Amino acid sequence: MNIEKFLVPEGKKLNLKNHPTDFTGDHTDKREAVEDLRKNVGRLAELQDVLYAQNNHALLIIFQAMDAAGKDGAIKHVMSGLNPQGCEVTSFKQPSAEELDHDYLWRSMKRLPERGRIGIFNRSYYEDVLVVRVHPEILQFQQLPDKLENDRNIWKKRFEQIRNFEAYLAENAIHTLKFFLNVSKEEQKNRFLARIETPEKNWKFSAGDAKERGFWDDYMRAYTDALQNTSTKNAPWYVVPADKKWFTRVAVSEIIIKKMESLDLQYPKISEAQRQNLLEAKKILESEQ
Ligand code: ATP
Ligand code: MG
Repeated sequence: MNIEKFLVPEGKKLNLKNHPTDFTGDHTDKREAVEDLRKNVGRLAELQDVLYAQNNHALLIIFQAMDAAGKDGAIKHVMSGLNPQGCEVTSFKQPSAEELDHDYLWRSMKRLPERGRIGIFNRSYYEDVLVVRVHPEILQFQQLPDKLENDRNIWKKRFEQIRNFEAYLAENAIHTLKFFLNVSKEEQKNRFLARIETPEKNWKFSAGDAKERGFWDDYMRAYTDALQNTSTKNAPWYVVPADKKWFTRVAVSEIIIKKMESLDLQYPKISEAQRQNLLEAKKILESEQ
Protein backbone atom coordinates (compact mmCIF):
# COMPACT_ATOMS: atom_id res chain seq x y z
CA MET A 1 0.00 0.00 0.00
CA ASN A 2 1.29 3.45 -0.86
CA ILE A 3 0.97 5.13 2.53
CA GLU A 4 2.68 8.31 1.30
CA LYS A 5 -0.66 9.24 -0.21
CA PHE A 6 -2.05 9.81 3.26
CA LEU A 7 0.94 11.64 4.70
CA VAL A 8 0.70 15.38 5.39
CA PRO A 9 4.11 16.61 4.23
CA GLU A 10 5.95 18.86 6.66
CA GLY A 11 5.67 22.55 5.93
CA LYS A 12 3.14 22.14 3.10
CA LYS A 13 -0.37 23.51 2.90
CA LEU A 14 -3.05 20.88 3.39
CA ASN A 15 -6.26 20.75 1.40
CA LEU A 16 -8.61 18.11 2.77
CA LYS A 17 -10.54 18.24 -0.49
CA ASN A 18 -7.62 16.35 -2.04
CA HIS A 19 -8.18 13.53 0.44
CA PRO A 20 -11.26 11.57 -0.63
CA THR A 21 -13.00 10.05 2.39
CA ASP A 22 -14.17 6.99 0.42
CA PHE A 23 -10.79 6.04 -1.07
CA THR A 24 -10.01 2.32 -0.86
CA GLY A 25 -6.97 2.04 -3.14
CA ASP A 26 -6.27 -1.43 -4.47
CA HIS A 27 -8.78 -2.91 -2.08
CA THR A 28 -12.00 -3.36 -3.97
CA ASP A 29 -13.81 -5.47 -1.44
CA LYS A 30 -14.04 -5.94 2.27
CA ARG A 31 -13.06 -9.62 2.35
CA GLU A 32 -9.63 -8.97 0.94
CA ALA A 33 -9.03 -6.04 3.30
CA VAL A 34 -10.06 -8.10 6.31
CA GLU A 35 -7.58 -10.79 5.27
CA ASP A 36 -4.79 -8.22 4.89
CA LEU A 37 -5.64 -6.76 8.29
CA ARG A 38 -5.40 -10.24 9.81
CA LYS A 39 -1.87 -10.64 8.41
CA ASN A 40 -0.90 -7.17 9.59
CA VAL A 41 -2.17 -7.86 13.09
CA GLY A 42 0.17 -10.85 13.21
CA ARG A 43 3.10 -8.79 12.00
CA LEU A 44 2.36 -6.08 14.57
CA ALA A 45 2.42 -8.66 17.34
CA GLU A 46 5.88 -9.79 16.22
CA LEU A 47 7.17 -6.23 16.12
CA GLN A 48 5.66 -5.43 19.50
CA ASP A 49 7.40 -8.42 21.00
CA VAL A 50 10.80 -7.08 19.93
CA LEU A 51 9.91 -3.52 20.99
CA TYR A 52 9.04 -4.85 24.44
CA ALA A 53 12.09 -7.08 24.76
CA GLN A 54 14.50 -4.36 23.65
CA ASN A 55 12.89 -1.84 25.99
CA ASN A 56 14.51 1.20 24.36
CA HIS A 57 11.93 2.79 22.09
CA ALA A 58 8.31 3.68 22.72
CA LEU A 59 5.54 4.39 20.25
CA LEU A 60 2.80 6.96 20.81
CA ILE A 61 -0.16 6.62 18.46
CA ILE A 62 -2.69 9.45 18.39
CA PHE A 63 -6.19 9.17 16.95
CA GLN A 64 -8.21 12.27 16.22
CA ALA A 65 -11.46 12.49 14.29
CA MET A 66 -14.99 13.73 14.16
CA ASP A 67 -17.54 11.64 16.09
CA ALA A 68 -18.37 8.24 14.61
CA ALA A 69 -15.35 8.27 12.30
CA GLY A 70 -14.28 4.92 13.74
CA LYS A 71 -11.53 5.66 16.27
CA ASP A 72 -12.74 3.04 18.73
CA GLY A 73 -13.15 0.37 16.07
CA ALA A 74 -9.73 1.09 14.54
CA ILE A 75 -8.09 0.81 17.97
CA LYS A 76 -9.96 -2.39 18.75
CA HIS A 77 -9.22 -4.15 15.46
CA VAL A 78 -5.69 -2.98 14.72
CA MET A 79 -4.44 -3.61 18.25
CA SER A 80 -6.31 -6.88 18.72
CA GLY A 81 -3.21 -9.08 18.45
CA LEU A 82 -1.04 -7.10 20.83
CA ASN A 83 0.18 -8.21 24.20
CA PRO A 84 -1.91 -6.13 26.64
CA GLN A 85 1.09 -5.82 28.97
CA GLY A 86 2.90 -3.80 26.35
CA CYS A 87 0.23 -1.32 25.45
CA GLU A 88 -2.05 1.21 27.06
CA VAL A 89 -5.02 3.07 25.65
CA THR A 90 -6.05 6.44 27.08
CA SER A 91 -9.27 8.19 26.11
CA PHE A 92 -9.20 11.91 26.68
CA LYS A 93 -12.59 13.37 27.56
CA GLN A 94 -13.53 16.84 28.71
CA PRO A 95 -10.86 17.81 31.22
CA SER A 96 -11.59 17.42 34.93
CA ALA A 97 -11.24 20.27 37.43
CA GLU A 98 -7.84 18.91 38.41
CA GLU A 99 -6.71 18.74 34.79
CA LEU A 100 -7.91 22.28 34.13
CA ASP A 101 -5.68 23.45 36.95
CA HIS A 102 -2.65 22.41 34.91
CA ASP A 103 -1.17 23.30 31.55
CA TYR A 104 -2.89 21.53 28.65
CA LEU A 105 -0.11 19.00 28.04
CA TRP A 106 0.00 17.80 31.63
CA ARG A 107 -2.61 15.08 31.45
CA SER A 108 -1.05 13.68 28.30
CA MET A 109 2.45 13.64 29.74
CA LYS A 110 1.22 11.46 32.57
CA ARG A 111 0.03 8.89 30.04
CA LEU A 112 3.09 8.78 27.77
CA PRO A 113 4.18 5.22 27.02
CA GLU A 114 7.05 3.67 28.93
CA ARG A 115 10.03 2.38 26.96
CA GLY A 116 9.19 -0.83 25.16
CA ARG A 117 5.48 0.06 25.12
CA ILE A 118 2.86 1.32 22.71
CA GLY A 119 0.69 4.15 24.03
CA ILE A 120 -2.56 4.90 22.23
CA PHE A 121 -4.32 8.21 22.67
CA ASN A 122 -8.01 8.20 21.76
CA ARG A 123 -8.17 12.00 21.38
CA SER A 124 -5.26 13.95 22.83
CA TYR A 125 -3.76 17.38 23.48
CA TYR A 126 -4.80 18.19 19.92
CA GLU A 127 -8.29 18.79 21.33
CA ASP A 128 -6.77 21.99 22.73
CA VAL A 129 -6.29 23.34 19.22
CA LEU A 130 -9.45 21.72 17.79
CA VAL A 131 -12.59 21.70 19.95
CA VAL A 132 -11.21 24.61 21.97
CA ARG A 133 -10.57 26.58 18.81
CA VAL A 134 -14.03 25.85 17.43
CA HIS A 135 -15.53 26.87 20.78
CA PRO A 136 -13.08 29.47 22.10
CA GLU A 137 -15.31 30.13 25.12
CA ILE A 138 -13.86 26.88 26.54
CA LEU A 139 -10.61 28.78 27.02
CA GLN A 140 -12.22 30.53 29.99
CA PHE A 141 -12.04 27.29 31.95
CA GLN A 142 -8.33 26.84 31.35
CA GLN A 143 -7.36 29.27 34.13
CA LEU A 144 -5.15 31.32 31.88
CA PRO A 145 -4.07 34.89 32.67
CA ASP A 146 -5.97 37.41 30.50
CA LYS A 147 -2.90 38.11 28.45
CA LEU A 148 -2.68 34.47 27.35
CA GLU A 149 -6.39 33.91 26.99
CA ASN A 150 -6.73 36.91 24.71
CA ASP A 151 -3.55 36.38 22.74
CA ARG A 152 -4.50 36.41 19.07
CA ASN A 153 -1.57 34.14 18.32
CA ILE A 154 -2.59 31.51 20.84
CA TRP A 155 -3.13 28.75 18.21
CA LYS A 156 0.10 29.51 16.42
CA LYS A 157 1.92 29.37 19.74
CA ARG A 158 0.26 26.11 20.72
CA PHE A 159 1.27 24.58 17.38
CA GLU A 160 4.84 25.55 18.12
CA GLN A 161 4.62 24.17 21.65
CA ILE A 162 3.26 20.89 20.31
CA ARG A 163 5.98 20.65 17.64
CA ASN A 164 8.61 21.26 20.30
CA PHE A 165 7.04 18.73 22.63
CA GLU A 166 6.94 16.04 19.94
CA ALA A 167 10.51 16.83 18.86
CA TYR A 168 11.59 16.38 22.47
CA LEU A 169 9.82 13.03 22.57
CA ALA A 170 11.40 11.89 19.28
CA GLU A 171 14.86 12.87 20.48
CA ASN A 172 14.22 10.66 23.49
CA ALA A 173 13.10 7.68 21.38
CA ILE A 174 9.38 8.16 22.01
CA HIS A 175 8.08 8.09 18.44
CA THR A 176 4.77 9.73 17.63
CA LEU A 177 2.38 8.72 14.84
CA LYS A 178 -0.82 10.69 14.33
CA PHE A 179 -3.97 9.62 12.52
CA PHE A 180 -6.83 11.81 11.41
CA LEU A 181 -9.67 9.49 10.43
CA ASN A 182 -11.27 11.40 7.62
CA VAL A 183 -14.98 10.64 7.42
CA SER A 184 -17.50 12.52 5.26
CA LYS A 185 -20.34 14.50 6.76
CA GLU A 186 -22.77 12.26 4.88
CA GLU A 187 -21.28 9.04 6.28
CA GLN A 188 -21.32 10.50 9.78
CA LYS A 189 -25.03 11.09 9.39
CA ASN A 190 -25.58 7.45 8.34
CA ARG A 191 -23.63 6.22 11.34
CA PHE A 192 -25.53 8.50 13.73
CA LEU A 193 -28.81 7.21 12.31
CA ALA A 194 -27.62 3.63 12.78
CA ARG A 195 -26.74 4.46 16.39
CA ILE A 196 -30.23 5.79 16.94
CA GLU A 197 -32.01 2.95 15.18
CA THR A 198 -30.04 0.00 16.55
CA PRO A 199 -30.71 -0.65 20.27
CA GLU A 200 -27.22 -2.12 20.82
CA LYS A 201 -25.72 1.08 19.47
CA ASN A 202 -27.91 3.56 21.34
CA TRP A 203 -25.33 4.00 24.11
CA LYS A 204 -22.85 5.37 21.60
CA PHE A 205 -25.03 8.31 20.69
CA SER A 206 -25.47 11.54 22.57
CA ALA A 207 -27.56 14.49 21.46
CA GLY A 208 -24.46 16.68 21.75
CA ASP A 209 -22.86 14.72 18.88
CA ALA A 210 -25.56 15.84 16.48
CA LYS A 211 -25.17 19.42 17.67
CA GLU A 212 -21.40 19.39 17.04
CA ARG A 213 -22.17 18.41 13.45
CA GLY A 214 -23.44 21.94 13.00
CA PHE A 215 -19.84 23.13 13.39
CA TRP A 216 -18.52 20.76 10.72
CA ASP A 217 -16.87 23.42 8.55
CA ASP A 218 -15.24 25.06 11.56
CA TYR A 219 -13.84 21.71 12.60
CA MET A 220 -12.47 21.03 9.11
CA ARG A 221 -10.74 24.41 9.15
CA ALA A 222 -9.31 23.75 12.60
CA TYR A 223 -8.13 20.28 11.58
CA THR A 224 -6.56 21.60 8.40
CA ASP A 225 -4.62 24.25 10.25
CA ALA A 226 -3.56 21.93 13.08
CA LEU A 227 -2.41 19.17 10.74
CA GLN A 228 -0.46 21.40 8.37
CA ASN A 229 1.30 23.10 11.25
CA THR A 230 2.18 20.04 13.31
CA SER A 231 3.00 17.35 10.77
CA THR A 232 6.75 16.84 11.00
CA LYS A 233 9.20 14.22 9.89
CA ASN A 234 9.44 12.91 13.42
CA ALA A 235 5.76 13.10 14.25
CA PRO A 236 3.83 12.88 10.99
CA TRP A 237 0.09 13.19 10.49
CA TYR A 238 -1.71 10.75 8.22
CA VAL A 239 -5.14 11.57 6.81
CA VAL A 240 -6.77 8.15 6.57
CA PRO A 241 -9.96 7.71 4.53
CA ALA A 242 -12.69 6.65 6.94
CA ASP A 243 -15.92 6.12 5.02
CA LYS A 244 -15.09 2.41 4.73
CA LYS A 245 -14.07 1.12 8.13
CA TRP A 246 -12.38 -1.95 6.70
CA PHE A 247 -10.08 0.25 4.66
CA THR A 248 -9.28 2.58 7.59
CA ARG A 249 -8.16 -0.37 9.68
CA VAL A 250 -5.90 -1.95 7.10
CA ALA A 251 -4.34 1.44 6.24
CA VAL A 252 -3.67 2.29 9.90
CA SER A 253 -2.09 -1.13 10.51
CA GLU A 254 0.12 -0.71 7.47
CA ILE A 255 1.37 2.71 8.61
CA ILE A 256 2.16 1.47 12.12
CA ILE A 257 4.07 -1.52 10.74
CA LYS A 258 6.17 0.69 8.43
CA LYS A 259 6.99 2.97 11.35
CA MET A 260 8.01 0.12 13.61
CA GLU A 261 10.08 -1.50 10.87
CA SER A 262 11.97 1.76 10.45
CA LEU A 263 13.07 1.69 14.09
CA ASP A 264 15.53 -1.17 13.59
CA LEU A 265 14.18 -3.08 16.58
CA GLN A 266 16.25 -5.98 17.84
CA TYR A 267 16.06 -8.50 20.62
CA PRO A 268 18.69 -7.65 23.22
CA LYS A 269 22.02 -9.37 22.57
CA ILE A 270 23.43 -11.27 25.50
CA SER A 271 27.02 -11.05 26.61
CA GLU A 272 29.37 -14.02 26.76
CA ALA A 273 29.08 -14.01 30.55
CA GLN A 274 25.26 -14.11 30.35
CA ARG A 275 25.51 -16.99 27.87
CA GLN A 276 27.65 -18.92 30.27
CA ASN A 277 25.03 -18.31 32.97
CA LEU A 278 22.33 -19.70 30.69
CA LEU A 279 24.37 -22.82 29.99
CA GLU A 280 25.00 -23.19 33.70
CA ALA A 281 21.26 -22.95 34.42
CA LYS A 282 20.56 -25.49 31.68
CA LYS A 283 22.94 -27.95 33.29
CA ILE A 284 21.28 -27.55 36.66
CA LEU A 285 17.80 -28.05 35.17
CA GLU A 286 18.88 -31.11 33.23
CA SER A 287 20.53 -32.70 36.22
CA GLU A 288 17.31 -32.52 38.29
CA GLN A 289 16.02 -35.91 39.35
P1 ATP B 1 -17.28 8.07 21.72
O1 ATP B 1 -16.87 7.46 20.43
O2 ATP B 1 -17.54 7.06 22.78
O3 ATP B 1 -18.33 9.12 21.57
P2 ATP B 1 -15.56 10.25 22.33
O4 ATP B 1 -14.06 10.33 22.22
O5 ATP B 1 -16.36 11.07 21.40
O6 ATP B 1 -15.92 8.75 22.21
P3 ATP B 1 -17.05 11.48 24.39
O7 ATP B 1 -17.08 11.31 25.85
O8 ATP B 1 -18.27 11.36 23.58
O9 ATP B 1 -15.93 10.52 23.83
O10 ATP B 1 -16.43 12.89 24.03
C1 ATP B 1 -15.34 13.42 24.60
C2 ATP B 1 -15.50 14.91 24.40
O11 ATP B 1 -14.50 15.57 25.15
C3 ATP B 1 -15.34 15.35 22.95
O12 ATP B 1 -16.43 16.12 22.58
C4 ATP B 1 -14.06 16.15 22.98
O13 ATP B 1 -14.08 17.20 22.05
C5 ATP B 1 -14.05 16.64 24.40
N1 ATP B 1 -12.71 17.02 24.84
C6 ATP B 1 -11.60 16.27 24.82
N2 ATP B 1 -10.54 16.97 25.23
C7 ATP B 1 -10.98 18.21 25.50
C8 ATP B 1 -10.37 19.39 25.95
N3 ATP B 1 -9.06 19.45 26.21
N4 ATP B 1 -11.15 20.49 26.14
C9 ATP B 1 -12.45 20.43 25.89
N5 ATP B 1 -13.10 19.34 25.45
C10 ATP B 1 -12.38 18.24 25.26
MG1 MG C 1 -18.51 11.12 21.42
